[in-house]
Amino acid sequence: MLVKDRNFKIFIHESQIQNRIAQLGKQICADYADKNPLFIVILNGAFIFAADLIRHIDIDSEITFVKYSSYEGMESTGVVDELIGLDADIRERHIIIVEDIVDSGMTMREMLDDLKKYSPASLEVVTLLQKEKSIAIGQKFRYTAFQISNEFVIGYGLDYDQKGRNLKDIYIVENE
Ligand code: 5GP
Ligand code: MG
Repeated sequence: MLVKDRNFKIFIHESQIQNRIAQLGKQICADYADKNPLFIVILNGAFIFAADLIRHIDIDSEITFVKYSSYEGMESTGVVDELIGLDADIRERHIIIVEDIVDSGMTMREMLDDLKKYSPASLEVVTLLQKEKSIAIGQKFRYTAFQISNEFVIGYGLDYDQKGRNLKDIYIVENE
């Protein structure tokens, strides 16, 4: 399938994604019953994942959204922008960051360092995808839906220059 100037092929099917999210939702509900966790969703990429995940959360919880980006096109710019839009008081709260994909792990490291300064009661991450690159350096998260290779992926919220977020499945770039 052509998106802008690149070919992509199906990588993770919609049904696999939905099954895995239902599992993670159950796990989070069991771990956070009576903790009223605050989900902090990292925009833009995680918006669809968060929307599906949150509907499997039937314990008391809250959700808010921030923006934090380091990507242009298919390459990381190597610069992590500032966190914008954190409107909630997170002191003494149980925080769960909702991310679409962890690649080098740089964005997540900065985010965790930033949020720790506000003394949350606990701080965990749920990520839809984690690439080998960050697994190799030992980054581990409490909840990871899928571990994947280092290739570029789109769909289910993830974009290629703003295209492809609407796709129901996750696609991987096809090397010509
Ligand atoms: P990191 O700081 O971990 O290298 O990059 C994190 C951010 O880069 C992610 O939140 C995501 O927005 C973007 N990103 C990393 N890998 C991919 C990818 O394969 N596809 C897309 N669409 N975005 C990616
Ligand atoms: Mg992201």
